[in-house]
Amino acid sequence: MINFLDLKKINAQYREELITACTRVIDSGWYINGNELSQFEKNFAEYCGTKHAIGVANGLDALTLVLRAWKELGKLNDGDEIIVPANTYIASILAISANNLKPVLVEPDINTYNLDPKLIEEKITPKTKVILAVHLYGRLADMPSITQFARQHSLLVLEDSAQAHGAEIEGKRAGNWGDASGFSFYPGKNLGALGDGGAITTNDDQLAEVLKALRNYGSHEKYVNKYKGVNSRLDEIQAACLNVKLKHLDHTINSRRNIAQIYQKNLQSLNGLILPTIENIPNNLIHVWHLYVIRSEQREKLHHFLSQHDIQTLIHYPIPAHQQHAYAEWNNLRLPLSEKIHNEVLSLPISPCLTEDEAVFVCEKITSFFK
Ligand SMILES: *Cc1c(COP(=O)(O)O)cnc(C)c1O
Repeated sequence: MINFLDLKKINAQYREELITACTRVIDSGWYINGNELSQFEKNFAEYCGTKHAIGVANGLDALTLVLRAWKELGKLNDGDEIIVPANTYIASILAISANNLKPVLVEPDINTYNLDPKLIEEKITPKTKVILAVHLYGRLADMPSITQFARQHSLLVLEDSAQAHGAEIEGKRAGNWGDASGFSFYPGKNLGALGDGGAITTNDDQLAEVLKALRNYGSHEKYVNKYKGVNSRLDEIQAACLNVKLKHLDHTINSRRNIAQIYQKNLQSLNGLILPTIENIPNNLIHVWHLYVIRSEQREKLHHFLSQHDIQTLIHYPIPAHQQHAYAEWNNLRLPLSEKIHNEVLSLPISPCLTEDEAVFVCEKITSFFK
């Protein structure tokens, strides 16, 4: 059986280091907001190239709290509009509606699955305040164009980097392009904790100060509450595990890139199969392959065929936000590109622990399906 993602095998590689880290926390008697968190915040900010990293409970909170902080700072008001790609994972959109802000869905670029800077302009109104750029599947959105466009229109940029730890363009990493960025350390992400976790990165001192209070009941100082905050903290055990795994992140990214190359090489000539576009990838773009996503009009059949051959594939994502019950107000919207993507995508197994032989086997089975 080739699993889509074998988390047990991934974490087993660091078993001794993880046990040492957890034991240190257990024996310290200090479990929330301690040294492990400050160390991780320092390490992660350094990794992303930003001034600040602020640990929170999960990736959804990271995005939600940035928007909330911008409201506290007077940069956003109820009803303001946020540009967001229509094909993103639901969390990007939930973060917007949770703040009484209005998500404005934009069709993505069908070749990159990310925001198309050319399609943003027509969605801009006087109420538009933020572009939420999602780096879907581990590929950075076209941040040079998006940040330039945002500057011209005085818009804030929030990155959803939940799938893109370590991805870069022009030597600048995810988390360091926008005014702020949200990361997730959900166990299956490229940098995964042993439970929930998240972080915000930013170069803005004032924003970082507000966020440190918001995640902690709105308090900078015990029993003194400046904001109506929340409880969203990255605990010491998770921070300690993340400190271990961050050291290995670049190595795991290289393993993912190697698997992606095998897929790319062995599947490129198949008719009826669309591979991730890499021809137009500028040399300076580092794709971190959180997901290796192919497209086919025969997606359902292929999915079934591969599962009969003991290969687990997944769909990211089967139902777009505008067709969800949660967003019933959008159910009549037509977004043909996003709908096409949701109907055709299939994610092949990819992980730092997948062997080259396994990847070649996956390619053989896919080839036999199309021949
Ligand atoms: C995983 C993910 C999130 C949410 O992260 P959680 O830690 O699960 O809350 C947000 N956006 C995207 C694109 C994601 O993939």
